Amino acid sequence: MSENNLLPYNTMRMNADSKGIIPIYSERDVFEVLVEQLSPLKIIGGGSNVLITQDQDAYILKNEIKGIEIIDEDNDKVLIKVGAGENWHQLVMWSISHNLGGIENLALIPGCVGAAPMQNIGAYGIEQESVFHSLSAIDLSEGTTRSFFKEDCKFGYRESIFKNECKGKYIITHVNYILSKNHKLNTSYGAINNKLEELEIANPSISDVANAVISIRQSKLPDPKIIPNTGSFFKNPIVSISTLKTLELKYPEIVSYPIDDEAAKIPAAWLIQHAGFKGKRVGDAGTHKNHALVLVNYGNASGEDMLSFAKQIQDGVAEKFGISLEPEVNIW
Ligand code: FAD
Ligand code: NAP
Repeated sequence: MSENNLLPYNTMRMNADSKGIIPIYSERDVFEVLVEQLSPLKIIGGGSNVLITQDQDAYILKNEIKGIEIIDEDNDKVLIKVGAGENWHQLVMWSISHNLGGIENLALIPGCVGAAPMQNIGAYGIEQESVFHSLSAIDLSEGTTRSFFKEDCKFGYRESIFKNECKGKYIITHVNYILSKNHKLNTSYGAINNKLEELEIANPSISDVANAVISIRQSKLPDPKIIPNTGSFFKNPIVSISTLKTLELKYPEIVSYPIDDEAAKIPAAWLIQHAGFKGKRVGDAGTHKNHALVLVNYGNASGEDMLSFAKQIQDGVAEKFGISLEPEVNIW
């Protein structure tokens, strides 16, 4: 395998070449790459949210900017500055060891801190937006540094400006978060309360909630080190209430969660499962047996195999339910 091969750098274990893989330890390293005029450039963190479908005619900047620093605090809150190359789960563990709340529900999400604002990572009723303060990024075409505050980032459900109009334009170097010293826990989502009851924990701490989330995730989700995957492959579709009502007439058991008076979210996993794709496998591309939303590479699937299988799922769901599934992963 060539030293420029991306296979060790993506959790779907896609075998693809690049023009070069350049580790970035500081902002200065980014400016040096820009002075050398290496182009085009792409950025990778943990590679847990990309599907690489072809050799990359690009230099890949591997973000390794580290550091977690408290830069301000008062009686209630702490402002921290985090290097974009820090591992997200290690940041959650750091927050717990400092008894700071706000991100405990986001335990065990793979990847780096710099990618967290990209799709506004979320789980168990919390999105990183709820603790986000600002970030620093370098404009790769201008070579200038810029701060983005919350209102600049246009965060949405698994969305931000960096996935849309600013796609590929910036490398995020640091993210600043506000964590809480007197945090109100959110345990109402999904299976957290059940897990806490099972563990006989009546008054949970931040650490108890994180441990409950870790335990649920470990029991449900395939570990990418064992079965290569990128987590949820598609976003959960949001439909109008009138569409939902029509579907409910035909499928009374359909699962949905209201967003507001006009829209509701339908779990993509439910749609995929009921379109017959849970645990289905075509060659080495498939959906996981326990979780229909997680596409997995059972061995040597190529990017094209994965894409073509994803397309079969999209077509199957569209045909049965009239709903179009949009990929959550970044297709390279
Ligand atoms: P990468 O895959 O390396 O990059 C993703 C995108 O961001 C790419 O387009 C890349 O170019 C860009 N990017 C990365 N770093 C930077 C940077 N510093 N500056 C600019 N652009 C950058 N996601 C959730 O939201 N919630 C979950 O609960 C969740 N669970 C998961 C479970 C599993 C088992 C797996 C495999 C994935 C899961 N994910 C989840 C998806 C993924 O972990 C997150 O999206 C994560 O934030 C990706 O981080 P990364 O460093 O691996 O990003
Ligand atoms: P789950 O708890 O079985 O729930 C299935 C779906 O229903 C989820 O997608 C979730 O939407 C939605 N849901 C559940 N309870 C809800 C509530 N009270 N209000 C609104 N929506 C609700 O899901 P899971 O697959 O095991 O995942 C658990 C959490 O981890 C979810 O938040 C999920 O997003 C996150 N996760 C994300 C990825 C990824 O790669 N993006 C991978 C694994 C897990 P939401 O997805 O909108 O929360």
